[in-house]
Amino acid sequence: MRRAIACKRDGETLGAALWQEILRSYLRDELGDAQMAALLMTCVLRGMTLAETAALTEAFIASGETLAAPGFETVDKHSSGGVADTASLIVVPLVAACGVPVAKLSGRALGHTGGTLDKLEAIEGVETDLSPERFFACVGEAGCAIAAAGARLVPADKRIYALRDLTSTVPGLGLIAASIVSKKIAGGAHAIVYDVKLGRGAFLRDESAAEELAQTLVALTRGFGRRAVALVTDMDEPLGRAIGTGLEAREARDFLRGTERDARLGAVVSALGAAMLAVAGVAGDCAAQLERALASGAAYERFAAMVAVQGARPDALERLRPHPQAREARAPRDGYVAAIDAVALGELARELVERAGSGAGIVTGVRTGAAVRRGDLLATVYGDPSFATAVGEAFALADVPPAPRPLVYCEIGSRVDDLAPGASPRATAASPRAPAAGLRSTLDSRYNGRSLT
Ligand code: URA
Ligand code: CA
Repeated sequence: MRRAIACKRDGETLGAALWQEILRSYLRDELGDAQMAALLMTCVLRGMTLAETAALTEAFIASGETLAAPGFETVDKHSSGGVADTASLIVVPLVAACGVPVAKLSGRALGHTGGTLDKLEAIEGVETDLSPERFFACVGEAGCAIAAAGARLVPADKRIYALRDLTSTVPGLGLIAASIVSKKIAGGAHAIVYDVKLGRGAFLRDESAAEELAQTLVALTRGFGRRAVALVTDMDEPLGRAIGTGLEAREARDFLRGTERDARLGAVVSALGAAMLAVAGVAGDCAAQLERALASGAAYERFAAMVAVQGARPDALERLRPHPQAREARAPRDGYVAAIDAVALGELARELVERAGSGAGIVTGVRTGAAVRRGDLLATVYGDPSFATAVGEAFALADVPPAPRPLVYCEIGSRVDDLAPGASPRATAASPRAPAAGLRSTLDSRYNGRSLT
């Protein structure tokens, strides 16, 4: 191990067999946190080639169980994390309503970002801790399901992620990509759409880093014989209007019912949904199919069926109500909304939910760029009126409007089935395998000498 650390320190790369041995020893406690932390720091500071990232991903997958849907192909979707990112709760049943089974593995809140599992569990009775059998049975019955990645799926990532959190080694692109992709491959999806968030409310604030992560996620995923597309989307302000577990579940419900549809959230849902249909092999006008599934109520029906098979009480969706204590935050002056601090709002909403329950949180009333007069509504705070001042301060007002930002920056990876020769997703889905040697060398030459950090 000391030799391996020294090699990485001096700029060399470690191969798949060595990474597997390292992870095995670490999980058996033969290798301690001190050495693992030192090794992780070399990965952050020295970077990782794409081939080495693929080797680590493979070792992560090999550290635990892998799932496979029985008899059907599924698509999954992953967001790198943001605020008011309710897209999963909407796009999962929406894509299912277009005939594509969705088996989504999700996580919990991390820092200021919300977790899809927490939002789903705000619907009374819903369970997300599903056995693999029950998970795929739910997908078979409702067309879609959202579950927690269980403890037996990529256990090495769970331990190493906690250590990275303690040792400031989270932001290494290779480490992030291996962590994300290993869980998606082990989860058994045949096609995956990644939503890489970019902006002040995201973990990545640099456009070229976001694009490089998107490229890496797609290349790694394809190397394992699965289809992949990555979008880089804006997270400079909250995506939807609601922030807080139950309020976000309610926003998803109302979006699917058609009673209230935020345009910005809708645009990201459409982009992700179209990419999910396309990587799943759906031909034709994907946007039109999504539109029809929303308008006909079919998407809402999938949503109601999904929460029902996951244990929701019959009236649970009607019981998603905001906390009765509400206070409005209003503009202190005339001007333009120059910026909305998504990190602050994410943290405040999380604290509100912790104090006052899942009906608490924040619903924003304006977008970046809006012209406001003194006294206009900025946001409504639910659960504890004393938070209204801090919520109001998250809205920066200026005399001139800010420069507009794109909502979707780029899309990486063609959507059609253009896998490496010999890599059929049908043939490889049940038994994830290492990237083919040929692919490895292609990846190597593309990233030759380039650091992924
Ligand atoms: N999300 C993950 O699952 N892993 C990372 O390393 C970063 C974000
Ligand atoms: Ca593809």
